[in-house]
Amino acid sequence: MGIFSGLEKFGFIQNENIEIYDTGKSADKQDQKEEQSHLDSNVEEKDLLFDKSHVCPLCDASFTTRTVKTGKAKIISHDSDLRPKYSHIDVLKYDAIVCPECGFAAMSRYFKPVSPTQAKWIREQISSNFQSFSIPKDTYSYDDAIAMHKLALMSTIVKHGKVSERAYCCLKLAWLNRGKWEECQDEDEKKQIKQEELELIEKAFEGFSDAFSKEGFPMCGMDELTVTFLVADLARQLKKFDTALQWSYKVISSMNANERIKDKARMLKDQIFEEQKQMGE
Ligand SMILES: [Zn+2]
Repeated sequence: MGIFSGLEKFGFIQNENIEIYDTGKSADKQDQKEEQSHLDSNVEEKDLLFDKSHVCPLCDASFTTRTVKTGKAKIISHDSDLRPKYSHIDVLKYDAIVCPECGFAAMSRYFKPVSPTQAKWIREQISSNFQSFSIPKDTYSYDDAIAMHKLALMSTIVKHGKVSERAYCCLKLAWLNRGKWEECQDEDEKKQIKQEELELIEKAFEGFSDAFSKEGFPMCGMDELTVTFLVADLARQLKKFDTALQWSYKVISSMNANERIKDKARMLKDQIFEEQKQMGE
């Protein structure tokens, strides 16, 4: 018999789990939460951006790019290949920096001085042909972002940057294509975007699996197990199931891996088996 027995006649359903003193869930807090989510729903992409100043490490030109305010965008989920998804904005669109004067471009973590030889290569192969570029003043469309990341990939190739940097740029481009695909309404165009995404996933897979044995960690800000997991999932997307399994087992059997990433790798392994089975049918 609960304290609240006898209230049935007033229409209350017997519930023994009612707690008189609830734990931490006050009406005030609930109201605040609702107010917050109401405020959140009014947030627009442009509210999360500001103009950040840069000086080109190659030609010394000063310019600004739209940049996401630190700590303002909230991650809501990750795709299986670790692509982060944010509420109200796709932060990934704002990572590439393009110098509007000389065409040197890079993802933000790589927009740094280059060696004299690299500078020479970029001047000869990029700047000499470069038509000035106008950086969008408002929010970036996926096409803007893809163009800017392609310029970054170009600079990385011309400067003979690390394999991992090229692979990371391909991965970012694949993710941007996925973002574009998600908001595209045209079925034919969607097919084309998916195709391009898959080609970029292939390039990212090649680059990361190659860089894995040649470069040290952290790689593009990721530790060894994260890159291992990433390569496993990229292989899965390319239907290279045996390779995908080998890489996921590396995580599962690692002495250094924590349970969280091991669990993710176990789930990935199950998914690979499932997809393999479906292919066979
Ligand atoms: Zn420049």
